[in-house]
Amino acid sequence: MELLLATQNEHKKDEILSMLPDLKLKTFKDFNFSGEIEETGSTFEENALIKAEFGYNLSQITCFSDDSGLVIDSLDGAPGIYSARYSGTGSFADNIAKVLKNMAGQPHRKACFICVICLFDGKEPRFFEGKIHGTIAEEIKGSHGFGYDPIFIPNGYDQSFAQLPAEEKNRISHRSIALQKFFEFLQK
Ligand code: IMP
Repeated sequence: MELLLATQNEHKKDEILSMLPDLKLKTFKDFNFSGEIEETGSTFEENALIKAEFGYNLSQITCFSDDSGLVIDSLDGAPGIYSARYSGTGSFADNIAKVLKNMAGQPHRKACFICVICLFDGKEPRFFEGKIHGTIAEEIKGSHGFGYDPIFIPNGYDQSFAQLPAEEKNRISHRSIALQKFFEFLQK
């Protein structure tokens, strides 16, 4: 089965091929697209659909995309769909600093990571969601991973995502839960 993954990031492609080696996976690189897609939606689903539709229209092959972010209860769901650009600079360190500042003195620290995958074949979009619940640490812990990993402690653990070995994070993460649902659907 040939599929387009709506990304420029070849690492995402390698990660998926390591799980499903039989997929014939293309990315934007194969279609010489290196621009930005404006994510103008107001939910993870809408933004994932915008990217998957764009990819389908570009390639005319079935396309999937993912959209993800951190949702913090006591910040009314922020940074949410704005996770990548929360601080305005796009730097992971600045994003984390803004979260910790906004959470200073806040005893309610529940949060979750969400990942939504959208599959679009030109007709009906399908969505696959992965979610992992946890709490926001009081300070940065660990140096693995990316994004908000150093301040997210998954429920059932006393270490942050950035302290856990990469294999363990990847086994339990929102992205891996969404991908598992997606792969199950493809193999039906
Ligand atoms: P995107 O879905 O690749 O655009 O990711 C959006 C943003 O959410 C990233 O830039 C990160 O800031 C954050 N994010 C998504 N998944 C993770 C994760 O597994 N760890 C840490 N941050 C994440």
